[in-house]
Amino acid sequence: MPRNSIQFQKGFSIPEFMQMYGTEMQCRERLFHLRWKNGYVCPDCGSKNYCELKSRPLYQCNKCHHQTSLTAGTLFSHSKLPL
Ligand SMILES: [Zn+2]
Repeated sequence: MPRNSIQFQKGFSIPEFMQMYGTEMQCRERLFHLRWKNGYVCPDCGSKNYCELKSRPLYQCNKCHHQTSLTAGTLFSHSKLPL
């Protein structure tokens, strides 16, 4: 399964996105659901057990310890907007 399979609708601009999902918290939750519609699944081993790192916005697989950034591979990884 490709890791970076998130696709936003065409014409969906960042300002519109930020308006819709206002706060950082809302934005993260929205991104999480965009990325993992049925909950987190490890891209490496497929495990659904994960923990959220406190120090960085990363999700770590409990099984193989693969770390995934919420914004990796999305347009947000190239933006300077606070997330
Ligand atoms: Zn894993």
